[in-house]
Amino acid sequence: MLAVLAGLGAFISTISGGLFALRFRTHLQYILGFTAGVVFGVVIFDVIPEIFKIIGQIGISYEGPMIALVSGFLIFHLLEQLVASHHASEIEGPATHKIPAIGFVSAGGLIAHSFLDGVGIGLAFQAGVGLGLTITIAVIAHDFSDGLNTVSLMLRHGNRTRNAALMLAAGAAAPVLGVLATFLFNISATGLVLYLGFFAGFLLYISASSILPEVHKDKFSWPTFGLTVLGTVLMFYVSQSL
Ligand SMILES: [Zn+2]
Repeated sequence: MLAVLAGLGAFISTISGGLFALRFRTHLQYILGFTAGVVFGVVIFDVIPEIFKIIGQIGISYEGPMIALVSGFLIFHLLEQLVASHHASEIEGPATHKIPAIGFVSAGGLIAHSFLDGVGIGLAFQAGVGLGLTITIAVIAHDFSDGLNTVSLMLRHGNRTRNAALMLAAGAAAPVLGVLATFLFNISATGLVLYLGFFAGFLLYISASSILPEVHKDKFSWPTFGLTVLGTVLMFYVSQSL
């Protein structure tokens, strides 16, 4: 039940991010700077220690989950670069030459990712309420940027607002469906640490290589950096109390 509520939280967060992209962009860098810190803090202070706690309990070695972590990071990096290389080739072409389909493909990638966010929430709740709650915080925090990116990618590639809103709705529903999917199966403890490792790599990439560079793209800002630090410190205390 908690997992479903968490999925709904992700739904609301994604929708808010998308509406933000459609309506106004002031103070955006503060929000993104803070969420990058929160996601980073969750990975370092909660997900990775949790992985080591579980592998200690079941007596397996650390290599598998850490390879999963590196894979999560690199797969996400690869997917993002494949999409970015499309951007580059478009810049070389005529300025009016926009390919709406690329917007759909990029947003589709984000939707698949959001489904995995939901699976992460569901599996974390299977492992325990504390882990479930912290993963939920990480997902809700960064899903705002998922929603925002879905809408920006669609609009930037020349899609109509109506289609951007449709993709946003799909992206918001995806984590809820991901949570529901985990009700259909039980994962072994080994499977869980592998998924958590993969998920940690994926969240680490999102915060460090996807959200953070975006935050200071125009100009470095001390207040924003301060909010990033605040996000990580906050997650340190949250991880201690859960
Ligand atoms: Zn996400």
